[in-house]
Amino acid sequence: MGKNDVTNRAGENDKEKENLNLLTSTQIVIHDALKRLGFKENAFEMLKEPIRMLNVRIPVRMDDGSVKVFTGFRAHHNDSVGPTIGGVRFHPKINEDEIKALSMWMSLKCGIADLPFGGGKGGILCNPRTLSFGELERLSRGYVRSISQVVGPTKDIPAPDMYTNSQIMAWMMDEYSRLRKFDSPGFITGKPLLLGGSEGREEAGALGAAICIEEAAKITGLSLKGARIIVQGFGNAGSSIAKFMHQSGAIVVGISDVYGALYDPNGLNIDYLLQRRDSFGTVTSLFDGVITNEELLEQECDILVPAATSNQITVKNAQNIKARIVVEAANGPTTREATRILSERGILLVPDVLAGAGGVTVSYFEWVQNKQGYYWDEKEVTDKLREKMVSAFQQIYAISKNHNVNLRVAAYMVGVRKLVEASEFRGWI
Ligand code: NAD
Repeated sequence: MGKNDVTNRAGENDKEKENLNLLTSTQIVIHDALKRLGFKENAFEMLKEPIRMLNVRIPVRMDDGSVKVFTGFRAHHNDSVGPTIGGVRFHPKINEDEIKALSMWMSLKCGIADLPFGGGKGGILCNPRTLSFGELERLSRGYVRSISQVVGPTKDIPAPDMYTNSQIMAWMMDEYSRLRKFDSPGFITGKPLLLGGSEGREEAGALGAAICIEEAAKITGLSLKGARIIVQGFGNAGSSIAKFMHQSGAIVVGISDVYGALYDPNGLNIDYLLQRRDSFGTVTSLFDGVITNEELLEQECDILVPAATSNQITVKNAQNIKARIVVEAANGPTTREATRILSERGILLVPDVLAGAGGVTVSYFEWVQNKQGYYWDEKEVTDKLREKMVSAFQQIYAISKNHNVNLRVAAYMVGVRKLVEASEFRGWI
C-alpha cells in the first residue's frame, strides 16, 4: 500500500488510538477483506473513502427569534450497485470521519443482506434534547433543503438513526415532496405507517440483531431459554432487543443508558423498564444502586449485546468480558485490538455490519412497497427479514470457517464483493 498505507498512518506506537478511529479501522478491515478475495489494489482505492461527501450549514430560526447555524453531513460511500441508503443521526459528537465510516458500514450491510443499494449516511451536529419540537422540525426541514441536490428515491435514501425517529422522517419526506412538487414517499424510510412506512420497520434493527443472537446461540450450543443477557443501551435498538430476548425466555440480567446501568443476576423486570423508559432511552435515573456502563460490560453473563455507541469494548476491558457471545447491535462498539483479544479468548463476536443489517433490510422493503404502492403485513415483513438475516449469518459463518477468519473479516468479505464486481462491470476500476 506504500506511503499512504492506512496501517502506518497512526504510527506503530499508538495501536489502540488507531483502533478508536472508526474510519481507519474500517479501512484496514476492508483492505484485509479485499486482499483475501484476491482483488487488486485499485479496488481498495475505490472503496477506502466515500465517492461523495457533502458538508452543509443549516440556519435555523430558534424559538427566541435568534438564528443558529448547524453543521450537517451526507456521505455516499459507493453507488455502483444502486442508489445509496442510510440513516441520519442528530448527535452532539458526530464528525466527518465518523459519518464516512458509517456510510462504509452501510455499504457492507447492503452487500451482506444482498440489497440493490450502496451505503450512505448523514448527520447533524446538535443536541436534540435542547431543541423544542418546533426547532427540531425546522432543523429537519433545513437539512433536507441543504442536501436536496444529492438525495432522492433513485439517488440516496435517508432513514432514521440515533436520536431521529418517524416524526423527523415525516417532516423530511414532506419537505422533499414540497421541493420536488410531487408526493415522494420513496425518498426516505422509517416513516409513520400512514405516510408509507413499513410494518415492522421500527423494530427491524433490533429484530435483525435478535435473529443473530439466536443463530449465534445455536452454533455455540447455548439454549436461549434461561441464557443470561446484558444489553448496553436502552434506546430503540437496546430496549427492543431486551424485549425480544425476554420473550424468547432468556433472562435479561443487565441494561444501561448514558447515565448508568442496572444489573441483577436474577433478571430485571423488563416489562416495567420498557414502560418507564423515556423517548431518549433513559430509565436508570429512576433507580438507586446504579452501576457504571464500564462495570456492566464486565458482569457475568452468557451473551453481551452492546447496543449504545462505539468504542465500548477496547484493550482496557476485552480481557474482562465474561460473555461467551458478543453481538454488536451498535455500530463500532468493539475496537480492532479488542476484536482480536475476544477472538483469541474463544468468544464468538457477531459484527455490527451483520447484526445491524436488519434496519436497512426493512428500509429496502419499505422502499419496494412505496414503489409498488402495495403494502405487506407485519408477518410478511418479518418472515422476509428472517430469511435474509439467517441466510447472511450462515454464509458469513461458513466463510469464517473456510478462510479461518473471524466473523468480522468474513462479513467484510461478503460485504465488499458486490461493490467491487459492480464497479468492475461499470468500468470504473
Ligand atoms: P437511541 O438513541 O434510541 O438509544 C441510544 C441508547 O444508548 C440510549 O439508551 C442512550 O442513553 C444510550 N447511550 C448513549 N450514549 C451512551 C454511552 N456513551 N454509554 C452508554 N449508553 C449510552 O439509539 P438506537 O437507535 O438504539 O441506536 C443505538 C446504536 O445501535 C447506534 O450505534 C445505532 O447506529 C445502532 N443501530 C440501531 C438500530 C435501530 O434499529 N435503532 C439499527 C441498527 C443499528
